[in-house]
Amino acid sequence: MSLAGHIRAESARLAALCTGCGGCVTACPMAPYAAGVEAAGPAAVAAGMLDVLRDGAGTPAALAWIAACTRSGICTPACPEGLDAAFMLRLAQWRAKGALGTPPLIPVREDTQYSPKVKAFARLTLTEEEQSRWL
Ligand code: SF4
Repeated sequence: MSLAGHIRAESARLAALCTGCGGCVTACPMAPYAAGVEAAGPAAVAAGMLDVLRDGAGTPAALAWIAACTRSGICTPACPEGLDAAFMLRLAQWRAKGALGTPPLIPVREDTQYSPKVKAFARLTLTEEEQSRWL
């Protein structure tokens, strides 16, 4: 299955299981820093996140929450349904950044120096033999 197919399949699977209770939003340490989340309320923000997973445009508060995610993972143990809420957020963030070919719904920051930085860090941690194989 392609990555896009995997994103679609997992989005549909998790969106079907999610009740939209908003427990993940309530637990999220970044929620207070995302514009409009507090005013919208956790259930409405979760509903907007589900809309993104279902090919929708979400809501401003849900998009702010999706964009603010720092992958703390605190949302996952907070889910009463036992869902991997952190993965749902990751799927929503990929989608909102245009991973499926649609225009981005949230700002996308590109680091053109990403690969050189990874290589520079790897040179500090890998043996010369590993470097010759992988870099
Ligand atoms: S992922 Fe879990 S905690 Fe978050 S809205 Fe869905 S059911 Fe509730």
